[in-house]
Amino acid sequence: MSTEEAPKLDFMRQIVADSIAAGTHGGRVQTRFPPEPNGYLHIGHAKSICLNFGIAREFGGRCNLRFDDTNPTKEDVEYVDSIKEDVRWLGFEWDELHFASDYFEQLYDWAVQLIKQGDAYVDSQSLEAIRAGRGTATEPGINSPFRDRSVEENLDLFARMQAGEFADGEHVLRAKIDMASTHLILRDPLMYRIRHAHHHRTGDTWCIYPMYDYAHGQSDSLEQVTHSICTLEFETHRVLYDWFVEKLGIFPSHQYEFARLNLTYCLMSKRRLLELVEADVVSGWDDPRMPTLRGLRRRGYTPESLRNFCHDIGVTRYNGLTDMVVLENALRHDLNKRAERRMAVLNPLKVVITNYPEGESELLEAVNNPEDEAAGKRQVPFSRELYIERDDFMEDAPKKFFRLAPDREVRLRWAYFVKCNEVIKDADGNIIELRCTYDPETKGGNAPDGRKVKGTIHWVSAQHAVSAEVRLYDYLLKVEDPADIPEGDAWREALNENSLQVLADCKLEPSLAEVSSDMAVQFERLGYFIADSQDSTPEKLVFNRTVTLKDAWAKEQKKG
Ligand code: ATP
Ligand code: MG
Repeated sequence: MSTEEAPKLDFMRQIVADSIAAGTHGGRVQTRFPPEPNGYLHIGHAKSICLNFGIAREFGGRCNLRFDDTNPTKEDVEYVDSIKEDVRWLGFEWDELHFASDYFEQLYDWAVQLIKQGDAYVDSQSLEAIRAGRGTATEPGINSPFRDRSVEENLDLFARMQAGEFADGEHVLRAKIDMASTHLILRDPLMYRIRHAHHHRTGDTWCIYPMYDYAHGQSDSLEQVTHSICTLEFETHRVLYDWFVEKLGIFPSHQYEFARLNLTYCLMSKRRLLELVEADVVSGWDDPRMPTLRGLRRRGYTPESLRNFCHDIGVTRYNGLTDMVVLENALRHDLNKRAERRMAVLNPLKVVITNYPEGESELLEAVNNPEDEAAGKRQVPFSRELYIERDDFMEDAPKKFFRLAPDREVRLRWAYFVKCNEVIKDADGNIIELRCTYDPETKGGNAPDGRKVKGTIHWVSAQHAVSAEVRLYDYLLKVEDPADIPEGDAWREALNENSLQVLADCKLEPSLAEVSSDMAVQFERLGYFIADSQDSTPEKLVFNRTVTLKDAWAKEQKKG
């Protein structure tokens, strides 16, 4: 892609375009997406995936998937597998698959090189002492008493650390840089710690593990990554990234930072999402309320809608908060074009068409998607007993209520005009049934005499309907900005107790019994819904509401 063709590149793509134009690395572009396999991917990762894979795709480059698996205690193959699946589901394929743990041997050799150069040393202070010695933003740190160990002693201790002679925490390997540096990260950062733990790939081969800062840049370098893209929190790490590259004399990968995605009403760190799962606040990583790709998928989000969302929000260096509505609108936009329409009644009220012959039924033609002619038509059964939505009837209706009311006529979608003549109530005065008449002349929804009705409501035939449980979702949090939630347990207070509402006996048109859990459908007038991939069975249908048709939440808030 040349800059002339796309003058409005975001700043990151501009950097890439400029480096190609300058012939840096021969104009080659290599990116990578580097998740730590310690949880499931979330929508924030989608932004990083779309950026890294997108840049490679657009600039004729390559993008690797690399697992940053340097922390054996928190990582698992379960996460590795799910991350691979989720990247593919989102629509991307990596050029090479790597694991930082495959580089452990090389990283070890490079550490030995740094020791020999006098650029690293074994520190035998406790972690607390090391922390205390780092100083602050206004005060320099103090040198460790072990800082001036000889190269021989360092080589010997490091080899013994690796051989398993010491317990966790007895020694660490530190880069020897500058305890007075104005960059706190350069105050002799840790490179290795001892951890006698089983690693999901390397097993018990290693008992020392590299720190993120030492493993990450060197892994980039080994893969000849030209643009190492990460989020802004790592900006302060860049000087250290460059220091290792320089001291080791290895391929000069370079780090570029962008603003992470933050969404309203949404927790977005794997660690915190894990807390939700472990506290049983949600049913799992794939709970439809979770911002994980699994959860969003089960909720009915399409990969296209997520890619479009990531494109729409753009890439900047400014940390902001994106309104969840932007994500929902990307989904509505996509589903409006693609989702087939169906009829479903969530709160059923029985209607008897008294002038429709008993025991008879007919099939009426309904358009599957007015936005897509290729989606064709289907047939919907109609008979004497129907269900309509309770909300669509009002006994003492004001003038502006354009739905069904005593002595008023409405159109039943794809069917006939009906008029309500009688309201049946139980002993407590609850409405349990409506008696209506239909006008056979209005089949298909228009009256030959040209008379009009103000409202059209949806319905299902009672005898043909299938029952289903329908789950309605709201945001998991009632706090708009997740940054306002303090660390620790405070997220519990921030939970929205009404994030899940279960409607146990909804009535659906029969074709919904066969709908797949891969693609949402629109329940006319109600929103987009998807068969639940985990819980829906032919015996017991379960649907999730993906998203409402309009932004009801914003309206609700304005009211409140
Ligand atoms: P978490 O705190 O959720 O575990 P992380 O940054 O530790 O997130 P990693 O697995 O290390 O997760 O991240 C893989 C890549 O995804 C990194 O390059 C990281 O910068 C990026 N990433 C993670 N969260 C976001 C986000 N909210 N927005 C954009 N990119 C993100
Ligand atoms: Mg992390």
